[in-house]
Amino acid sequence: MLKPYETELLGRVEPGFFIDGRWERPDTRELFNVHDPSTGEIIKSVASATVEDALRALDAAAGAQQTWASTPSRVRSNILRRAFDLLTARKEDFALLISLEMGKPLAEARDEVDYGAEFLRWFSEEAVRVRGDYRPTPEGTGTIVVTHRPVGPTYVITPWNYPLAMATRKMAPALAAGCTVVVKPAELTPLTTNYFAQLLAEAGVPAGVVNVVPTSDPAAQSQALLADARLRKISFTGSTAVGTALMATAATNALRTSMELGGNAPFVVFEDADLDNAVQAVVLAKFRNTGQACTAANRVIVHDSIADDFVERLSKRVNAMKVGRGTEAGVEVGLLITPKARDNVSRLVEDALNNNATLVTGGKPLAAPGNFFQPTVIDRVPPNAALMNEEIFGPVLGIFRFTAETEAVELANKTPFGLVGYVFTEDLHRGHRMINSIDTGMMGLNVGAISNAAAPFGGIKLSGLGREGGFEGIHEYLSPKYTLLPHQR
Ligand code: NAD
Repeated sequence: MLKPYETELLGRVEPGFFIDGRWERPDTRELFNVHDPSTGEIIKSVASATVEDALRALDAAAGAQQTWASTPSRVRSNILRRAFDLLTARKEDFALLISLEMGKPLAEARDEVDYGAEFLRWFSEEAVRVRGDYRPTPEGTGTIVVTHRPVGPTYVITPWNYPLAMATRKMAPALAAGCTVVVKPAELTPLTTNYFAQLLAEAGVPAGVVNVVPTSDPAAQSQALLADARLRKISFTGSTAVGTALMATAATNALRTSMELGGNAPFVVFEDADLDNAVQAVVLAKFRNTGQACTAANRVIVHDSIADDFVERLSKRVNAMKVGRGTEAGVEVGLLITPKARDNVSRLVEDALNNNATLVTGGKPLAAPGNFFQPTVIDRVPPNAALMNEEIFGPVLGIFRFTAETEAVELANKTPFGLVGYVFTEDLHRGHRMINSIDTGMMGLNVGAISNAAAPFGGIKLSGLGREGGFEGIHEYLSPKYTLLPHQR
């Protein structure tokens, strides 16, 4: 049962789609339901945009592109800064909405609002700092001038696990660079994005610059938009399977692509690590968002000489974690987003145990309602078990014991993914060796959470391409343009 203030908040969220500065009501459209995953209760119904609606959104984005690109960067910057201020002032509303539609603990939802808002602030600052470059030709006969132009209308697709932060991490740099956007939120979590679009309009984003088209048929919508030559870029966060298929389609019109895909992060603890810190960090890196994060520690690789101690401290901490609906006080672990996701976690656990791994704690789904799963620790997982090879996306921590540094490196790199790695050691030289030898786009040295709006977030291999945040983030939405100025005719 929703509480009165939850119902009131949900009543403020637009149920339609946002095209050319207007909310279109769902009267004549098919609806799709958004659920509270802890109860299965329908909390709101949202209009499903048709392909025709999505193409109208692209009409609006393409129509607004030139004006937005030539709007002074200071004006774009001020709008983003106002959006930051509004989002920060409405942190509690956004946190509650995120928790209601995707089930994460309220404290984590608040962190997501802070993190998501930082992209608005960071890119409001970056908007006015896009620098060009000039250099003499080596022959001394002219000057090479390099400037940057917005890529153009961009299609943004976001996942359900961070419905606000994944939207701001893409939309803020796109808007700062002068690109207009058509946004497709995940069908499980469209409410946060709609509410955020309402905020952007209030912050002064002009009509047509941001368009939002939730749909229950993402494949049809995406095919139609990618086939339209007015679209110049796709920025996607989600699974590797969907992302790579979209890249293949995007090749037809030679679109710029930014792809933030799956992860399979190694978390390596050496014998000289500060164990209290390592345990605290692995709990954060594993159980944040109930393990449903691309940055989640997926394979915990611990030196044999300290593994017993590590497992004992860890299991004490994990046993004390409160599981429950995200909005309940003191909850540290929420639920899996769908029954299918919970069943997948059960499969991975069973497979590990069938492969002679040792169950330390947890291991079972909880009774309905809600797709809850006990926070789980499994020791001595063999490298061939599915738990060590697939993205777990759940509150299950599998441990592999190693003895030689080379063995740890080999296992850490035994994956087609390469998003982030975590290493725990007090030996600076070893830390440097590991940073250089683990094949990922990001590393945490003695720390279990690395995301920061000022840092370039992204992976290599099947974890994707492109970077979000940092000085690099805005360049995903800019194309360099070179002009030659000859010194003489
Ligand atoms: P998903 O690929 O199922 O869905 C992501 C988005 O793609 C959703 O909006 C969905 O509606 C849309 N989509 C699904 N099928 C589509 C199709 N055929 N054509 C076009 N769009 C389609 O992924 P998910 O389950 O929502 O998210 C979890 C995945 O996202 C995990 O693999 C996770 O690692 C990854 N992720 C990566 C990052 C990162 O920054 N690298 C961040 C968060 C999540």
